[in-house]
Amino acid sequence: MSHTAEIIAVGNELLLGSVANTNAQELSQALAGLGIQVFWHTVVGDHPQRLREALDTARQRADIILTTGGLGPTYDDLTKQTICDAFGVPLVLHQEILEEIRTYFSKNVHMEMPENNIRQAELPEGCTVFDNPVGTAPGCAFEAGGTHVLMLPGPPFEMRTMLHRHVIPYLRGLSREVILSHDIMTFGLGESPMEQLLRDKMSCMENPSLATYAKPSEVRLRATARAATADDAEAMLAPVVAEVTAFLGNVVYGVDVPSLESVCFRLLREQQLTLATAESCTGGRVAERITALPGASAVYRGGVVSYWTSVKADVLGVPQALLDAHGAVSEPCARAMAEGVRRITGADLGVSVTGAAGPDPDERGVPVGIVYIALATPEGTFCRPLDLGKRRRDRIQDLASNHALDVVRRYLSGLPVETWSRG
Ligand code: ATP
Ligand code: MG
Repeated sequence: MSHTAEIIAVGNELLLGSVANTNAQELSQALAGLGIQVFWHTVVGDHPQRLREALDTARQRADIILTTGGLGPTYDDLTKQTICDAFGVPLVLHQEILEEIRTYFSKNVHMEMPENNIRQAELPEGCTVFDNPVGTAPGCAFEAGGTHVLMLPGPPFEMRTMLHRHVIPYLRGLSREVILSHDIMTFGLGESPMEQLLRDKMSCMENPSLATYAKPSEVRLRATARAATADDAEAMLAPVVAEVTAFLGNVVYGVDVPSLESVCFRLLREQQLTLATAESCTGGRVAERITALPGASAVYRGGVVSYWTSVKADVLGVPQALLDAHGAVSEPCARAMAEGVRRITGADLGVSVTGAAGPDPDERGVPVGIVYIALATPEGTFCRPLDLGKRRRDRIQDLASNHALDVVRRYLSGLPVETWSRG
């Protein structure tokens, strides 16, 4: 049987807009991965009666209810009591949890447990307790009248820890099916062209299913299968992943890989090559993304954020005459930047980005969205000219940094780098 879930986030701060409901987002992502459909997100203030109404509604339309927030020791933390009233389950004191909270206080906070924390050791009778190693309020789950209710703390780090430690295993236990997915990571095709391309395939597929998720500037395709065993699910997924990957060609940069930069990193390491960056309009984004990966020093030599023309000339050695003739946002400048950073760092590859990120055209009138990416290599220098259109500044910067990494990825994979279409 497939389950449906509703997430109820409790807290006035969410309604006031001072905190974004990231817990619901994270829970929804995890539930999707388990094949549990989430039909509703509800947000309700710290108000017992309104919470009660939300619970009464939720139990009519979902068989799993997850709540976050309001498990703390303060007077406004009313979630447990209200849920217990709604489902007719008594709250009882769990002595061993009380001891754990006392220990948490003496070990981590170096003080005696305040009296009102006793309330955190009260949990619904007969529930499964979710311990909280990074905070004090434990969570829990119980089943009443066919509805599973799971209560989680509000602070996102505590919620997340409990989600992975307890909630996912608990929810897996509710179903006899195994659900597996693979992520086909793509860059270079927008979400709607991708959907159009795959429409026929996607609409007729239920198990395995295929869904697109847009990340900033790229599209993740997730193939998911449900089956009695993991082997069966894998056997169902393998042909779908192979077929879609072959169909999309080299816009696919990997399967089950986290990011473009991680693919560049792996390829550089395998080929024992090093990279350097010269960035103008991306302000160091490419460098930042590569250096975020542990062990980056094995493949990344360094970079220059050459924002001023004088830095392009004095540090990277871009000839002044070239800058005067073509301007900083130009193919010759991109090429000279890539070659310059390759020379001064001694790296095998130098990648450069120069462009007009907006909101105004550059001083020579180059329109917003015009970007040049160049890659200097032992075999010569390649350039990818781009017109990213009039988008928001940060979107242009994101897209341009993706293109720079894509150029590196394609070069290292033996693919043409100047174009990025399917093929
Ligand atoms: P505590 O023991 O800290 O009181 P709690 O379980 O009672 O935990 P709340 O008091 O409701 O949780 O929330 C604690 C903090 O967690 C809030 O101030 C808020 O910053 C954050 N928080 C609560 N709910 C959410 C949510 N749905 N998404 C993101 N952050 C949240
Ligand atoms: Mg609280």
